[in-house]
Amino acid sequence: MRIGLYPGTFDPLTLGHIDIITRASTLVDRLIIGVAINNDKNPLFTLDERVHLIEKEVDRLKLPSVDIKVHPFKNLLIDCAKDVGASILIRGLRAVSDFEYEYQMVGMNRVLSNNVETVFLMADANYQSIASRLVKEIAKLGGNIESFVSDNIAEAINMKFNQNK
Ligand code: ADP
Repeated sequence: MRIGLYPGTFDPLTLGHIDIITRASTLVDRLIIGVAINNDKNPLFTLDERVHLIEKEVDRLKLPSVDIKVHPFKNLLIDCAKDVGASILIRGLRAVSDFEYEYQMVGMNRVLSNNVETVFLMADANYQSIASRLVKEIAKLGGNIESFVSDNIAEAINMKFNQNK
């Protein structure tokens, strides 16, 4: 059984992430979406909130032939992969700017564990430029984020900013 781990902060999940999840689902039998606590990034949503939002989206995707689980993690990525039995790490690549960081991550993760291969996927051209950080900035300034996230996530983001006002 091929188990893939797609890790990220997902603060929050965008249409870019959903595109990668859909593509990854054709490559593995089980896909674990690993939600990193990533407090350094000062997330807008708590770890629990991010997990619940992703679970709802995944339910709605109804992807056949793949078992998708959402798994929060606070430890090292490579240890998380071991915990869930993943042999494939899935990462999305957007621009050259992603490449440098990902290149280093693969190199260092390989030293930590040689049992995991990283597979990079590119989202559809319509979704490649989407970044959670920018979606939040647009929403904060009252812009329309409908083209970047699902309706449910857009509502959750807008609620956060209204709460914080
Ligand atoms: P991280 O903190 O690990 O970068 P993110 O939630 O920002 O977490 O991203 C998780 C993964 O999804 C990363 O591999 C990132 O490159 C990828 N990703 C994010 N947005 C997109 C997008 N629009 N298209 C393709 N990949 C994306």
